Amino acid sequence: MHRAKEMVKAPLEQKIQWLFELNQFHSEKYNNERLLRRFYRAQHPTEISAFKCMDGRIHIPAMTHTPLGIMRPYRSLGGRFDLGWPYLAENLNGWIDYCISKGRKALIMVTYHYSVGDIHRGCAGFNYDKEDSFRHAIKLRDQVDRIYGKNNSIVFPVIVGVETDNDSLIFHGEDHTQILDIITAMDKSDEELLLILRDLYPNMSDQVLDDILPLVKGNMEHIKETAAENRPIVETQHQEWILGLGTGFDWLHIPNISLIIGPYSDSLEEPIRKAAGIIQSNMENGRISDDGFVLLTSAIFKELGPERNRAIEKVRFLNDFAKKTIQELNPELAKKMRTLSVVINFHTREFEEIIF
Ligand SMILES: [Zn+2]
Repeated sequence: MHRAKEMVKAPLEQKIQWLFELNQFHSEKYNNERLLRRFYRAQHPTEISAFKCMDGRIHIPAMTHTPLGIMRPYRSLGGRFDLGWPYLAENLNGWIDYCISKGRKALIMVTYHYSVGDIHRGCAGFNYDKEDSFRHAIKLRDQVDRIYGKNNSIVFPVIVGVETDNDSLIFHGEDHTQILDIITAMDKSDEELLLILRDLYPNMSDQVLDDILPLVKGNMEHIKETAAENRPIVETQHQEWILGLGTGFDWLHIPNISLIIGPYSDSLEEPIRKAAGIIQSNMENGRISDDGFVLLTSAIFKELGPERNRAIEKVRFLNDFAKKTIQELNPELAKKMRTLSVVINFHTREFEEIIF
């Protein structure tokens, strides 16, 4: 079904049609994988969230072969987050309350990214400064520790680097310096990997370590597949043609098609400006077709009635805000913008287009 590579250069109308089909496809898959998901959770009960850059190349479920619906994503420009942002801290806390109510521990992957081959394939949100983005990851990890207490035995924030040329993950130990770079550990057995992880995270419970292992093994499979594909350089560069704003994007489940901005920051204007700039550069450099891009605003709901109605109000606001911002910043680019506003049913991941 995917045909994501064909879509990169396809006309905008075809892309939009494809998005509807993709949602249908992933929604059906999500429903069909209900048992698989329950089985996965029964085997690996640790709940996992990932804080990551809006960059479309960063796709942790795809990079770890984790089924759709297992990881809770948080996206922002550069993976820059501040738990002082009121909505973000409340949202994260709601998730941690949920984990505790289910008797599960919480693994928080705090990610940063870079490219081993070319500094300019790194993180635009940090002006390609790897050290700066890494320092920020430490800051965010320390913030989680300050809120929930270091070594609290329930919430485990872990810093993870993402190297996007090979799609390799780098797990940083508690002292930052010791690492497990998956691409250099491909020949290790499960027992050896668990020993390394135990060394990196001496305060982590066995269950959480056991539940990191499938992420490591999934990443190994993904690295092998990526190497076998022999990706051309252009596919390690930006190729996004969707600017996503809001929540509930995990059905997209395909790397490098969308820049996704969560609604958490105290200022949404800067990430929108940066994302619009990346899409414009994708068009100018011929990495995508230049006839237009999609502004996809989205909100997720669990229950019909007021909760779904609130989701509609959220997308109405996000759509108006993003449209206005892009029109003011870049009127030429705004002419090429097609808007798609949707609300997503949490239980099926099916979307419903909202026409204002
Ligand atoms: Zn980035």
